[in-house]
Amino acid sequence: MPLDLSRSQALFAASQEVIPGGVNSPVRAFRAVGGTPPFIERGAGCRIYDVDGNAYIDYCLSWGPLILGHCHPEVVAALQETLSRGTSFGAPTELELRMAQKVIDCLPSVEVVRMVNSGTEATMSAIRLARAYTRRSKVIKFIGCYHGHHDSMLVRAGSGATDLGVPDSPGVPAAAAAGTISIRYNDLEGVEAAFREYGSDIAAVIVEPVAANMGLVLPQPGFLEGLRRVTREHGALLIFDEVLTGWRVAYGGAQAHFGIDPDLTTFGKVIGGGLPVGAYGGKREIMSMVAPSGPVYQAGTLSGNPLAMTAGLTTLEVLGRPGNFERIVALTERLVAGLNQVLERLDLPYRAASIGTLFGLFFTTERVVDYETALTADTGLFSRYHHAMLRRGIYLAPSQFEVGFMSLAHTEAEVDATVAAAEEALREALG
Ligand SMILES: *Cc1c(COP(=O)(O)O)cnc(C)c1O
Repeated sequence: MPLDLSRSQALFAASQEVIPGGVNSPVRAFRAVGGTPPFIERGAGCRIYDVDGNAYIDYCLSWGPLILGHCHPEVVAALQETLSRGTSFGAPTELELRMAQKVIDCLPSVEVVRMVNSGTEATMSAIRLARAYTRRSKVIKFIGCYHGHHDSMLVRAGSGATDLGVPDSPGVPAAAAAGTISIRYNDLEGVEAAFREYGSDIAAVIVEPVAANMGLVLPQPGFLEGLRRVTREHGALLIFDEVLTGWRVAYGGAQAHFGIDPDLTTFGKVIGGGLPVGAYGGKREIMSMVAPSGPVYQAGTLSGNPLAMTAGLTTLEVLGRPGNFERIVALTERLVAGLNQVLERLDLPYRAASIGTLFGLFFTTERVVDYETALTADTGLFSRYHHAMLRRGIYLAPSQFEVGFMSLAHTEAEVDATVAAAEEALREALG
């Protein structure tokens, strides 16, 4: 049963004339799996509907933010109420205070928080702040971790344990990337070596506490604790990039799950409930350096926008009600257990995994602990699987190196239907 995507194909062709690659963010173009991305007309609950009338159970959820599903009635009602009073004032509102208090309630490491408009802005600002606070210039990041598209974080993964930055994209000045040290994820010894060599010049270590932009890669026991210890020893800051893991790995983020107290945390995705939001926050002493309370400049015309605050606050409120987060985790675990039964039944050596409301499945027999081992995955098999799932009405993120997301709007019935579809899709993909 081939999928009719004729209207999507026409829209994609027209979009390619006027938008780079036809999309406003590269992954949406389906280049990693091939074919035409369905153009989406609407979403409701755990489903999205494309312009050709196809329906899909959605495990991408706008790349994570929609943890309540599409058009949650309370989010829609709250947005309509806010909308009727105006969309933006560029002046302080009570909503921003409530959002800051909410974030601080959820994460003990955060005493002061600044809202921005994207995850990219959040990490860019946190790194600027870390450099100002420590009066140092270098930043350690991990190969395969994504922290947005600003210059200093677009650095190619090099060979060897550590590599001084080489820009990952034309247009990034060598100088902007030169301050970035890239180290393999889970390589604590590499971090220690970098600190031995450049210690007094390293402002911060930025890490996805659960790596989720190269597929799902968990921190090895002791890795995050080690980062906390080494940064303290050397007077550098530890920045947890929880743009993806915040309110996903646990309600209080990966830092709650692993019991780590970072100096700064960056947020995005769920905190905006589907509207454009990011945030960064942390210790009062550090955050008090941000303008206008301090000299580190950072601003935004639409930062703390009332609609964005409303969607985010309502999402966090609903998600925080007793049992809701646990329910999404249980659905995620049910899906992974079902997928693993299928993989066993088909005598395949791969296993799905989850943490909190995130799940992943690598088509490799290697134990994936970093980018290099992630790259051993069979991307051809993933592409065939992805399209076979799409034809069965299951929408997965279009790359082997993305994670899956669960929402409160999914039910056991949809999860079980997904497992059944996966069995057929895998048989088909294996030929
Ligand atoms: C998505 C993501 C970002 C970038 O957020 P945008 O809102 O896309 O700019 C940064 N860090 C992590 C860990 C992310 O997953």
